Amino acid sequence: MTTSVGFIGVGNMGNPMAGNVLKAGFPLTVFDKHAPAMANLVGAGAKAGGSAADVVDRSEIVLTCLPASPDVEAAYLEPGGLVERARPGMILIDLSSVLPSTPRTIEPRARARGVHFLEAPVSGGVSGARAATLAVMVGGDAAVLERARPVLRALGPNVFHVGAVGAGNTVKAINNMMSCVNALAMMEGVAVGLKAGLDPMTIYEVVKASSGSSKSLERLPTAIVPRKFDPGFKVRLMNKDLETFTAIAKELHVPVSFANVAQRYEQMAMAAGLADQDTSVVMTLIERLAAIEPPAGGKPGA
Ligand code: NAD
Repeated sequence: MTTSVGFIGVGNMGNPMAGNVLKAGFPLTVFDKHAPAMANLVGAGAKAGGSAADVVDRSEIVLTCLPASPDVEAAYLEPGGLVERARPGMILIDLSSVLPSTPRTIEPRARARGVHFLEAPVSGGVSGARAATLAVMVGGDAAVLERARPVLRALGPNVFHVGAVGAGNTVKAINNMMSCVNALAMMEGVAVGLKAGLDPMTIYEVVKASSGSSKSLERLPTAIVPRKFDPGFKVRLMNKDLETFTAIAKELHVPVSFANVAQRYEQMAMAAGLADQDTSVVMTLIERLAAIEPPAGGKPGA
């Protein structure tokens, strides 16, 4: 019989991921505290759960994709939460990007009830979630991962087992720090180019064929030039991931610097009221600081 799957938290990332679980043929029950987020999935054949507990009752494997550590810890550990509600033998998998201490707290509590828990943060953005090309960074018991692999495989072809719980969110924080620093270096470079009178698409074509290229460069034609700052990946979530990275580095006594510079930009954007815009919106602040006129018809910085 096909494994029944539950999905809690179907926002920007969870929604397309849940859609791919459904497309892979798994019977799916979804729940989001913001009910309209579930509508397209229900239209595509998912059942709407009445609550997170209802999703657990209807599923053998439950995936969660929530904003941050406090949301995940509340959903799993509060009285009546996922750990208490789950039946022995069930598998709970958190796809959110959180502090490594969060899965390290949840896993033993789940194990004490005979419930399996994996962390599995993902990377690849909303476009990767839609295309089912995400990288999935699993921490936890390898044998449990093998049971859950067919479901995780629906999210993307690269499902990595990286170690015990906590390891997945460690590598995820490292990845996001590198991605954010790349993106901000690109934005500062482009700002200088704009001030020098260069066409941003000329910068794009040249750098794409040169040594300064990175995946972040693609934001130039997809977000910055068209002034498209709908999330995507919210500023407040990147700020959280940089905070996670620096917390891990501090705990391990590794002196790091780029994450701090990058986080100053994310915090500036939050202070400017842009926390729920896509991280590319930071470009508008750099333009303001550099007294660069936004393109005709473009949105000015906050
Ligand atoms: P989002 O804010 O768009 O979605 C979160 C969803 O969770 C919302 O729909 C919200 O209503 C729901 N929710 C919150 N608490 C809930 C609860 N207790 N019960 C049910 N639903 C609840 O955020 P997102 O961009 O989808 O990100 C989710 C996680 O994935 C974050 O940890 C983020 O860092 C990570 N992530 C995001 C991206 C990206 O590009 N957006 C990429 C990789 C990883």
